[in-house]
Amino acid sequence: MDQARAFRLLPSVEEALVRLGPRALDLPGGRERATELVRELLDRWRQDLRAAALDEASLGARLAPGAFESAFDAVVEREARRGMVRVINATGVVLNTGLGRAPVHAEVAKAMGEAAMSYVVLEVDRDSGRRSERDQELSRQLARLTGAQAAIAVNNNAAAVYLVLSTFAWGGREVVVSRGELVEIGGAFRVPEVMIRAGVTLKEIGTTNRTHLADYAQAIGEKTALLMKVHTSNYRVRGFVHEVPMAEIAGLAQQRGLPSAFDLGSGLIDPPKAAPLTGLGDEPRVVEAVQSGCNLVTFSGDKLLGAPQAGLIVGTKAEISLLRRNPIYRALRLDKVSLAGLEATFRLMLDGRGDELPVRRMLLTTAESILPRAQALAQALASVPRLDATVVEERSQPGSGSAPDVFLPTSCVRVVARALGEEELLMRLRQGEPPVFARAHAGAVLLDPRTLTDSDARELVRAMAAAVA
Ligand SMILES: *Cc1c(COP(=O)(O)O)cnc(C)c1O
Repeated sequence: MDQARAFRLLPSVEEALVRLGPRALDLPGGRERATELVRELLDRWRQDLRAAALDEASLGARLAPGAFESAFDAVVEREARRGMVRVINATGVVLNTGLGRAPVHAEVAKAMGEAAMSYVVLEVDRDSGRRSERDQELSRQLARLTGAQAAIAVNNNAAAVYLVLSTFAWGGREVVVSRGELVEIGGAFRVPEVMIRAGVTLKEIGTTNRTHLADYAQAIGEKTALLMKVHTSNYRVRGFVHEVPMAEIAGLAQQRGLPSAFDLGSGLIDPPKAAPLTGLGDEPRVVEAVQSGCNLVTFSGDKLLGAPQAGLIVGTKAEISLLRRNPIYRALRLDKVSLAGLEATFRLMLDGRGDELPVRRMLLTTAESILPRAQALAQALASVPRLDATVVEERSQPGSGSAPDVFLPTSCVRVVARALGEEELLMRLRQGEPPVFARAHAGAVLLDPRTLTDSDARELVRAMAAAVA
């Protein structure tokens, strides 16, 4: 095939616009947007030609009457679906960072929607009419849930760690951390790098596998500002290892008149009357971290807590108010929508309804109760032509670097499309409406009911039928 001749087949943007006529020019956005979309389509085809993924004959077919118009319509449709749309999470990964981590409870979402649409009591006291703090109620709720004296909320846990460091050790003062705890959390949050950006000096102690209390004691000097412990959320070191419990570090800090902080990552809180989230291995609980006697505990809102995205810091009154007085707090604080969502989540927890939170519900679901759901899904998928669906025993993961060693027993539907490879099927599912995300394993696509609602499952059957059609 002559690729040079194929290139000459491609119309110019002008010619294409003339050909498409009102179909392009009457789009909302008018000529300007139509031009962009046509250019995008032609550029893509040009790239395919260059990569020899398209030849003259196929290009000719794409440019045939009707075909070109449909291709343009598809570009328009895809553009309309860009950005943040609802997806069906069939991965079984409960806290899927790529898919937005924790979905919130319907009542929480409602509270967030109402706050977004209206004025709210944010920084004003209803009785006196005077200015107040925006997270006063949240601080009270978190104190009740964790036993801490006070709390403050920022954008995410990365911001929480940054605020703690910048408040206590800004100006090059030293923060003592064990070498074994200098973690990188997904998305390039590296504890040592955050420390540098927060203007503090990292004082590494111990070795990768073993750190002792004496290492902390020896590291304390003139410039020491803070002793910090970091939970190694997303990995475990095994074998000849030793780490110092927070209680011992906190005790040492107190003796030397220093503050101490514990970055927990996942903020596991078992609310009153809720079934405890057992089966998550050694994942530390916020209550225990508070009881260990450290001044500050930092954790995420949207990991095991199942709340909207936030960085939560609980601790002693004096230290929390120092955080509040740091000018950088202003750049990290939460908006009314997130605060409304957090307050609503904590209200549910304090009302003894913590088990209704979607994240807890999904994590607590047993393999026994998933099995009939997998069987029903497999049966529904049996009606889709060109598809084989069987039920297999599998394992789901909590996700988001929480409890990295923990696998929750589950049953999945194993799907093989007779005419499609598993990667092609996954791609079609992602591009479908609504998009479906699942995982590939050993030549098949696995659908895990753990992260599906019943209505998701029904939509999933339609999405699967469309993907293999
Ligand atoms: C997840 C995690 C963070 C970052 O939290 P985000 O809420 O994602 O910003 C920081 N430290 C630890 C130990 C974590 O596990």
